[in-house]
Amino acid sequence: MIEIIEQKKVVTKKEHQCLGCLRKYPLGTEMQSTTAVDDNLYHYHLCQECLDFLDTLPMFERNEDFCEGDLLENENYPNREKIRDEVYKRK
Ligand SMILES: [Zn+2]
Repeated sequence: MIEIIEQKKVVTKKEHQCLGCLRKYPLGTEMQSTTAVDDNLYHYHLCQECLDFLDTLPMFERNEDFCEGDLLENENYPNREKIRDEVYKRK
């Protein structure tokens, strides 16, 4: 079970990739920074759009541990086709 150690809103000081949607955000973007631990230590950022989307999910889905890009796999994520094009084209 993953345990959240610290979660806070930050204004980023460098480019960060959002864990939920994999989009890259430039420095100066407000994002939620999370530090969590299970067997390993994790540190990740989520963008406001992903946070808003998570708010719409029922609690049991929200509590599930998720991996990179998982939110984009959810068919209810707004504009996900467009975002996927954007993210995967860049690789
Ligand atoms: Zn995001």
